[in-house]
Amino acid sequence: MKCLYPPCTKEPKSRGLCANHLVVARKLVASKKLSWANLEAIGKALKPKPKIGPVEAWFMSTIPNAISTNSNLETEKGSDESN
Ligand SMILES: [Zn+2]
Repeated sequence: MKCLYPPCTKEPKSRGLCANHLVVARKLVASKKLSWANLEAIGKALKPKPKIGPVEAWFMSTIPNAISTNSNLETEKGSDESN
């Protein structure tokens, strides 16, 4: 698992991007040039990992289409905005 920016081999920090590239993406989002939804749609950012504990994860794991907490964080298709 490495940063989504192709030449970059750093460990992702959040949203599939390393600390450096996360800063760049955040700046673009902050300047309203892009939104996280845009970046997610084109595969240049991932959805942030849900912050749930193991007990919550256990309950949610029984629900089809619940948020996966597995290591496979490749782009999940089929769900748009859920909020
Ligand atoms: Zn990077």
